[in-house]
Amino acid sequence: MSNIVAIVGRPNVGKSTLYNRLTETRKAIVDDMSGVTRDRHYGLAEWTNHPFTVVDTGGYVAGSDDVFEAAIREQVVIAIEEATCILFIVDVTTGITDLDDEIASILRKSKKPVFVVVNKVDNNALLADSSVFYSFGLGEIYTISSMTGSGTGELLDEVVKTFEDVPVEENTLPKYAIVGRPNVGKSSLINALIGRERNIVTPIAGTTRDSIHIHYNQYGHDFMLVDTAGLRKKTKVKENIEFYSVMRTIKALEEADVVILMVDAVEGLESQDINIFHLAEKNKKGIVIVVNKWDLIEKNSKTIKVFEEQIREKISPFTDVPIVFTSVHEKQRIMKVIETANQVYTNRSKKVSTSTLNDVMLPIIENYPPPALKGKHVKIKYVTQISGVAPMFAFFCNLPQYIKEPYRRFIENKLRENFNFSGVPIQIFFRQK
Ligand code: GDP
Ligand code: GDP
Repeated sequence: MSNIVAIVGRPNVGKSTLYNRLTETRKAIVDDMSGVTRDRHYGLAEWTNHPFTVVDTGGYVAGSDDVFEAAIREQVVIAIEEATCILFIVDVTTGITDLDDEIASILRKSKKPVFVVVNKVDNNALLADSSVFYSFGLGEIYTISSMTGSGTGELLDEVVKTFEDVPVEENTLPKYAIVGRPNVGKSSLINALIGRERNIVTPIAGTTRDSIHIHYNQYGHDFMLVDTAGLRKKTKVKENIEFYSVMRTIKALEEADVVILMVDAVEGLESQDINIFHLAEKNKKGIVIVVNKWDLIEKNSKTIKVFEEQIREKISPFTDVPIVFTSVHEKQRIMKVIETANQVYTNRSKKVSTSTLNDVMLPIIENYPPPALKGKHVKIKYVTQISGVAPMFAFFCNLPQYIKEPYRRFIENKLRENFNFSGVPIQIFFRQK
């Protein structure tokens, strides 16, 4: 089960500063040339071995003040429904505003844990000013400075206590989630796959109340679809459709083994699609990219190649991902999507024996050893796959700290060339022998 921490609050209280601190996106900005980080409002964080997804509710709305405030109120409601717990951020330097009061009154009705987080408490002198926030009647207050990070550790210690434990897997069927922006064709694909069967679909016990798992068992395929498309909810504010779909996407993604990322052929891979891709990659999920509405594209013999190249450029450096071009309308390559997801699932569960790994990889390493550093030679002695939900490999050597990223990438490419890990993020560790 996924744990989602939602950051809510009015503008300028420091939500995105806190978000950046929790997800450390400053690091990401460095290796993110495409400008994707700018509008990334959700990301993976971790505290004391508890991974969780942080959602910053602020960035989804623009428009007039009226629309803005309505949108914020609605996001608080959605956050209450979808998140594990809520961080309600207020600003010690301004005290309580009307909008703060409104948000607090929505939160008081919530059954989810709410943390009142008093931000911008940069020094002890400001500590005294924070006691006014007890008047919300939302319990304990947590004073932090998102700028310096002070107080965030104490807050997170309490936050992780609200997390639900990952349940023991009752059902071992592969789980696939079809995700993507609104209108790319997710519902159409699900309908094409299950057709009339859809109305006999029932939520499976043991799954979360609000995600429906559809058991598909036809034509020799047996898997679960984690359905988000069917669970569309009406929102009053247009901009929140996206916010809502993001919350749903995060949940579906975390429950799935393989993420089927559907994009619109006409619109191409947009920054939100790339965000979902990276979230799936960071969560070590299998990934299939489906380019739908292929019927709307004027094609020649090179079109597929051009599309593939454009997509791979945008998802770089993890480019070993299958891409399927579909037209759900014309029922083109629908089963190919499932077959590809099955293959990725198999790749992700693959265990390569230690002897095979060493037989293949040691000669490659011998031919192209890690470059010597400070006159010292790195010797890789053997390699083994570590058990886990997704492939991990440990290379044992004398000086692991001397192996740099280019060589790690070389090793990853060789693993991918020799064993099929298409669609699967793999982890490589160099360890002291
Ligand atoms: P958001 O609109 O709620 O996402 O707020 P931002 O994160 O964009 O922050 C609004 C302003 O408050 C920015 O100028 C931040 O630099 C500043 N800010 C955020 N956190 C702190 C803090 O802990 N202390 C101080 N002094 N300023 C902060
Ligand atoms: P969702 O929001 O991702 O679930 O998207 P829907 O399945 O509701 O589809 C959105 C719109 O795209 C609908 O009008 C569909 O009929 C249309 N659509 C879905 N698949 C295709 C396709 O392969 N080709 C074309 N031209 N339209 C499609």
